[in-house]
Amino acid sequence: QTSGAQGKKYTIATDTTFAPFEFRDPATGKLTGIDMDLLKAIAEDQGFEVEIQSVGFQAAVTAVDAGQADGVIAGMGITDERKQKFDFSEPYFDSGIQMAISENNDEIKGYEDLEGKTVVAKTGTEGEAVAKELAEEHNFRIKGLDQSATMYESVKNGTAVAVFDDYPVLAYGVEQGNGLKIVTDKVPGSQYGFAVKKDHNTELLEAFNAGLKNLKDSGEYDKVVDSYLGGAS
Ligand code: GLN
Repeated sequence: QTSGAQGKKYTIATDTTFAPFEFRDPATGKLTGIDMDLLKAIAEDQGFEVEIQSVGFQAAVTAVDAGQADGVIAGMGITDERKQKFDFSEPYFDSGIQMAISENNDEIKGYEDLEGKTVVAKTGTEGEAVAKELAEEHNFRIKGLDQSATMYESVKNGTAVAVFDDYPVLAYGVEQGNGLKIVTDKVPGSQYGFAVKKDHNTELLEAFNAGLKNLKDSGEYDKVVDSYLGGAS
């Protein structure tokens, strides 16, 4: 069965540094990660081409909304609010939000220790939404930043005491020795999906779903995820 996406070339926007979903391989400088590998395999399976724009999360979402990119894959949570502007693929990964602090910090043990302090979260993300909700009860300030790398840096250099981000990303970073530690339980979050602008690029969305199903059936999906998360997911 041929898909309507076959032979076409699509521009797909993504985040900059969101390891292990999208990041630059330190050795080659090339964009790699679970999202990149899945998208590449799906495109091959369905016979379409992709050009990746690594622009940051908020910028990627905005680009698709503005019709400047055809789709976004960026560890993007499928939420009811976003469904008003975007059509999502079948979910491909379960996520959630956690809080991390500097590994040298022994003062912050939970949200109640954040009173009067500043935390960072990525602008326009679910992590930011979770932080905003907690901030009312626990009386802390939130600084919005555009990149996970910058957020982690500001926690390490003391500009902020904590960061709210997706737990698979935080866990991966901590494991890689990024100087942070995780101190709270997961706040259950949404599942990741590939998105197109609502009622646009329907054939691309269908091809993504068909390709994703093929990758799951063939075991390739598990292979990709395990190659980054070592089966620990
Ligand atoms: N999963 C989060 C969201 O959808 C964060 C995505 C990201 O930072 N790339 O809001």
